[in-house]
Amino acid sequence: MSDFEEREYASFITVSTGPVGGSDGPVEVVLSYAAYRLHVYASVVAFGAGHPGFVSDEYLAEIPLDASTTTAELVAGGVWQRSDGGYLVRDEQTLEFADFATRWADAVEANCLGGLGHVPDPTAPGRCARCHGPLGEPGR
Ligand SMILES: [Zn+2]
Repeated sequence: MSDFEEREYASFITVSTGPVGGSDGPVEVVLSYAAYRLHVYASVVAFGAGHPGFVSDEYLAEIPLDASTTTAELVAGGVWQRSDGGYLVRDEQTLEFADFATRWADAVEANCLGGLGHVPDPTAPGRCARCHGPLGEPGR
């Protein structure tokens, strides 16, 4: 395990899930930072892909890291629940954040495309500093 991976699994964060098993209400779950990061990114991607609250198997297969350990951690904690073709996200706070982040990113991109124009990012050649989209792409 690399230093980066060790750090990812040595830091923890607590999230609140929907009812798990026989519980009546939300359950606090402690996750490794690696699992939490996958959870948040995948939740935001799911909103952008048009299926809020559902992380697809295809997405997990496409990301450039082995997500099997972190996925198992999320399922064991009740944060994700296996469903046909992927996982249902059972953390309302993260879903609210993912919804907000997606609408914010769409609004920023609309500003860039709607007349304000892109702002070249001096730290990322070819990218917009505001929306992080590519400069000069057709229609941009
Ligand atoms: Zn832009």
